[in-house]
Amino acid sequence: MRRPLVMGNWKLNGSKAMVADLIKGLDAELAGVEGVDVAIAPPVMYLDLAEQLLGKAESKILLGSQNVDLNASGAFTGDISPEMLKDFGATHIIIGHSERREYHAESDEFVAKKFAFLKEHGLVPVLCIGESEAQNEAGETVAVCARQLDAVIDTQGVEALNGAVIAYEPIWAIGTGKAATADDAQRIHAAIRAHIAAKSEEVAKNVVIQYGGSVKPENAEAYFAQPDIDGALVGGAALVADSFAAIAKAAAKAKN
Ligand code: PEP
Repeated sequence: MRRPLVMGNWKLNGSKAMVADLIKGLDAELAGVEGVDVAIAPPVMYLDLAEQLLGKAESKILLGSQNVDLNASGAFTGDISPEMLKDFGATHIIIGHSERREYHAESDEFVAKKFAFLKEHGLVPVLCIGESEAQNEAGETVAVCARQLDAVIDTQGVEALNGAVIAYEPIWAIGTGKAATADDAQRIHAAIRAHIAAKSEEVAKNVVIQYGGSVKPENAEAYFAQPDIDGALVGGAALVADSFAAIAKAAAKAKN
């Protein structure tokens, strides 16, 4: 039985006051909500504050990060290591987000190395995959997702996906308000799961596959009604406590 995960990617947004307000609001909204894991990924600068606030509130919200680098320590100016993320209580680490692939030229192979590095340090990779609008129109969606996944599977074996999270995020749906329909998303999720099942049915059955791309309280229920959609990676709506909480509640209701 897969446990749904709703994760908020705050991107480059926040201030001390905003972090405090949002965590307070989320804790209040999510009190008593069971059957869903909820994680937030604030900018790394605010992990310390978030860890303190979550600890003080004895919150069940999991802490995540939006990135990790590929070195453990040393002369790597500006880098962030897995142990540093762990030091601040972060467990779920987003890698391969399309914004990093695009603005930081991160290749499939580079993202796969991050995946291995996180696993080596006992952290949960949240591996983002997904196609551009042009690839979607050319009918290449499944092939693109398979290629991005195979960068991990071919180097680390399919079992490496055990305990990891996959986030299917069509790039054209991210931050655009142009969400994939629930039926289309389900079709792609099923194809991703089938691709993994060809290597291991057991891994495919257990791996959490989130949908991401303009998920809002208004469309969340339709996604979570789909059998292969196990939660959501949420950007814009994760910055508003009641919207993000409503998405988490929809997942808890649909999946339990
Ligand atoms: C994202 O950035 O991962 C994302 C899904 O953003 P949004 O929800 O704003 O589309």
